[in-house]
Amino acid sequence: MSQARIIDGKAFAAQLREQVAAEVARLKAEHDLTPGLAVVLVGEDPASQVYVRSKGEQTLAAGMHSETHRLPAETSQAELLSLVERLNDDPAIHGVLVQFPVPDHMSQAAIVAAISPDKDVDGLTVTNAGRLASGLPALTACTPAGCMVLLRDVVGDLRGKRAVVVGRSNLMGKPMAQLLLAADCTVTIAHSRTQDLAAVCREADILVAAVGRPQMVKGDWIKPGATVIDVGINRIPKEDGKTRLVGDVDFEAAKGVAGAITPVPGGVGPMTIAMLLANTVSAAKRLNGIAG
Ligand code: NDP
Repeated sequence: MSQARIIDGKAFAAQLREQVAAEVARLKAEHDLTPGLAVVLVGEDPASQVYVRSKGEQTLAAGMHSETHRLPAETSQAELLSLVERLNDDPAIHGVLVQFPVPDHMSQAAIVAAISPDKDVDGLTVTNAGRLASGLPALTACTPAGCMVLLRDVVGDLRGKRAVVVGRSNLMGKPMAQLLLAADCTVTIAHSRTQDLAAVCREADILVAAVGRPQMVKGDWIKPGATVIDVGINRIPKEDGKTRLVGDVDFEAAKGVAGAITPVPGGVGPMTIAMLLANTVSAAKRLNGIAG
């Protein structure tokens, strides 16, 4: 049985970060502009701490300005919103990201609504989601945007392809489907109420799994030769008592059927922060009236 091409997200992300760093150097030299990203972390969620540290380090490595605001879990929503307001008004900051999840006493929707759409580098505001759905230029959620970079390279011409996105979150499934639609794919969005999910998945030339259920998508759900993008990040126990990361797709089974597949880790994950840097640079240019 032929084996799928394993899509090396790390290599794509490294390339993208190099492009971002080159553009940052140009903006500094030609426009005296240093793109700046502020990340806000409330509480001590261990996974979020790792993500936030990594975002800060990669922002600096690209030559950008980086601020990380770490707030205690007991911070009130009003205090958080007033920090977001300050960052919205700060001319040195072009991207504002509040790391989710936030503690239970806070409203994610209210926080997203407080972020200026011009600095919404996660693409979560209603304005950016609406602009994306309307075919207007928008800051687009980083992970789906990263998936599109991989798909364009692996698949080439996306027009007319049957795409199935499993998952309909605002952060992942919905913007992913909009981007595929904008690329002229025929798009199906599946979710927890979809009937005969396996049959729906088997129709896909491009299958994107963004569910959060370990190895849910089985090998026989995949159309032979399809391109499989596995967004899921799930930690499962190993026999030695430790844990390991797996995606939403049964990778070992899928790689004998698919034409190409992203591994977990090392597939979609690395693209997310690289796209965050790219979005911050785009936001900085737009806020300063710089074309391109
Ligand atoms: P959400 O929990 O917000 O959404 C999950 C979606 O999956 C929902 O739409 C839900 O359907 C659907 N779903 C749940 N169970 C099933 C099922 N049995 N069959 C079909 N659909 C189902 O998760 P996110 O979108 O935020 O994230 C999804 C995964 O991607 C997670 O593992 C997350 O960790 C990962 N992720 C990875 C990123 C990266 O950088 N690589 C970035 C963002 C997320 P319904 O709406 O009906 O409930």
